[in-house]
Amino acid sequence: MSLEKITNPFNARHWIGDMEADYVYTLGVAGERFFKELKENGKIMGAKCPCCGITFVPPKMYCEKCFAKLEEWVDVGKKGVVHTFSVVTVDVNGSKLDKPVIYALIKFEGTYGGLIHKIDKTNTVHIGMEVEAVLKPAKERTASINDIAYFKPIK
Ligand SMILES: [Zn+2]
Repeated sequence: MSLEKITNPFNARHWIGDMEADYVYTLGVAGERFFKELKENGKIMGAKCPCCGITFVPPKMYCEKCFAKLEEWVDVGKKGVVHTFSVVTVDVNGSKLDKPVIYALIKFEGTYGGLIHKIDKTNTVHIGMEVEAVLKPAKERTASINDIAYFKPIK
């Protein structure tokens, strides 16, 4: 095996195909309910563990720490904090975007996990920035993560 740094992935051994397009991920029971709450009630919900008290966002069916069944759902509100972020300047095909898009991992206070979503202010984003979800109008929601239009800085 060569020790040269590979800068073009097509120079490495690879499969030709469109495997990504063949994957289908189902939402699962917790995911279905999460998106239903988001669409119908405009709420971001988490699932709280009755044993260790951790609240998971997005919600899960079972606690990944102690394996307890998660049946208590809690509204975690719309305010979160930017845990990390990335500035995206090209689309999935490598074409330059008209303007950069910022995707951030947003964590909600007192919860485990987080949501990845867009931030609307590209020049002020920073780790630790407080943000708030801006939802689409109820009639435009389709029970998807895009029912949250974006997160906006609070301050
Ligand atoms: Zn637990």
